Amino acid sequence: MKTVSREKLIVVSNREPYTFKKGRAEKTVGGLVSALDPVMRASKGVWIASGSDAGRVMVPPDDPSYTMRLVPLTQRDIEGYYNGYSNRFLWPLCHITLDRIYLKKSYWQSYKKVNALFADAIVEEARKKGTRVWLQDYHLAICAAYIKEKRPDLKLSIFWHIPWPPHDVFRACPQGREILEGLLANDLIGFQLDSFCRNFMRCAAMEFGTSVEIKGRYIKYRGHITKVKSFPISVDFEWFERAALARRSGRFFERFKKERKLDGVMLGLSVDRLEYTKGIIKSLEAVEFLFAKYPRFKGKFTFVQIAVPTRKVEPYLSYMERVRKKAAALNARYSTADWRPVEYMESRFSHNDLAALYRGADFAMISSVYDGMNLVAKEYVSSQVDLKGALLVSEFAGAAEDVPGITTINPYDTESCADSIKEALEADPAKKRKAMGRARAYVSRNDIYKWVEDVLGEMKGLG
Ligand code: UDP
Repeated sequence: MKTVSREKLIVVSNREPYTFKKGRAEKTVGGLVSALDPVMRASKGVWIASGSDAGRVMVPPDDPSYTMRLVPLTQRDIEGYYNGYSNRFLWPLCHITLDRIYLKKSYWQSYKKVNALFADAIVEEARKKGTRVWLQDYHLAICAAYIKEKRPDLKLSIFWHIPWPPHDVFRACPQGREILEGLLANDLIGFQLDSFCRNFMRCAAMEFGTSVEIKGRYIKYRGHITKVKSFPISVDFEWFERAALARRSGRFFERFKKERKLDGVMLGLSVDRLEYTKGIIKSLEAVEFLFAKYPRFKGKFTFVQIAVPTRKVEPYLSYMERVRKKAAALNARYSTADWRPVEYMESRFSHNDLAALYRGADFAMISSVYDGMNLVAKEYVSSQVDLKGALLVSEFAGAAEDVPGITTINPYDTESCADSIKEALEADPAKKRKAMGRARAYVSRNDIYKWVEDVLGEMKGLG
């Protein structure tokens, strides 16, 4: 990581890289923290995140190398900025699920307040000349505008982890212009895919008309130029490969099958947060169709659906009810004394255990109705060390546009999804090997570390 080692780097995200439980620090699970931690250590930077208490602490505790600064938020702030504007408005807006939107004026007030609080903390930390600021995600859309008011010299970048919708959808946003202006205060905006960059450019053109100039990847607005570029995020390929190959992985998989009476049946796998954009019902409908159209799979194939509840508020609670009902109905209709069509689990699995399931499953299916990237797809590929499985990915998930060698599915076309499952289960092993080999070569070359280097390299190039 040579890219920023001599310059100070400030990373800003809603979630903190370390949490402290009973005085002990725990690193937050997730690709972003794992990939950025070594960069932050090298650059002796600052990671700014929200927290319940204010404070600056050196992390990691066993080798204090960089600063974690917490921006204290009240319960009311969290309700308005996080649960409200970010998750009940921007999330469904950007995932084109407009009927899930719920918006109150106080959400926007709170979002502005918290973005300004983050900006104040950033300005305080960015005293050193040449400091680079990297904002993360949709919680911080307008933060750059507040920073630039006080420090126009700072180079600011944001990575938008979720999709950017077409203008016909974006225009449902009453604060559309402010959101775009906030983002255009950055010098670099990163999206997962070229198609999201194009959507963003089009939104700027539609909202600002002749006051924006768009040339290739650049947008000029009020005299300031912003570069817009795609950086498809990835996973730690080697970590998943190693975890899948580990002896404990084989033992876990055997025990998993034995405990659930899955020995001798083919397995399909879907791993999702219990989230309405993930299309869990669509996967279950496709499985239902499969058994109706191809009864020969009864007793021979089980679909393992891991659905991790994350947000215990509406509309998640009603979605959870629907998913549970659908899985139960399928099992009630097709189960026999010693076989179930669906193994439905609402528990969270560790990455080690997931690597074992990814390695063993005959196929993985991702049915998202819209998804920035979908890391599960790349984790599955990384763990497929025997090249025996197939990966079916919704054409509305970023991974379908990014990763070669996968089968794309349309989650709205239930019968075709069922046909794709059948083909995955019956495909010629040599063909599967070849396809998985291509996918693995791509993900191993384009892992999360390469992603970080690409973004930081681009940030450095901003001058
Ligand atoms: N995940 C996990 N345990 C589980 C289910 C999911 O650790 O039981 C992880 C999964 O490995 C992946 C992340 O949660 O790293 C989900 O990322 P993805 O991009 O697929 O979707 P998101 O939840 O970010 O929308």
